[in-house]
Amino acid sequence: VKSLVVEDDYTSRFLLQTVLSRFGECHIAVNGLEAIQAVEASQKLAAPYDFICMDIMMPEMDGQQALRRIRDLELQSGTVSTNGAKIVMTTALDQPREVFAAFYELCDDYLVKPIDTHRLIDILHEHRLISD
Ligand SMILES: [Mg+2]
Repeated sequence: VKSLVVEDDYTSRFLLQTVLSRFGECHIAVNGLEAIQAVEASQKLAAPYDFICMDIMMPEMDGQQALRRIRDLELQSGTVSTNGAKIVMTTALDQPREVFAAFYELCDDYLVKPIDTHRLIDILHEHRLISD
């Protein structure tokens, strides 16, 4: 599983990277702009990300904008939606359902912070990114 962690908070970033790097190459970005640079670079290398874990609230470009842009880049590169990266959005907000309702069709799941690593691994299983 090639993954990308997009997160401005060091502690969350470190935790996610530690877990995801057990399953393959794991890159990090600290805001939405870097995330888009990483996705563009992966497309140039023809080695797109399988999994992206992205915070919603970040400086420079927030997760919602970055999510839309990443899906646009996938469309432009001819990736059909079902073959795109599995994208999980993370938030510290207490009402994730309301928050995610606005753009739920673009992402695959969400995680509430503080991150429960067991839930993260369950998500990887549910989306068939890993097997036992
Ligand atoms: Mg944040």
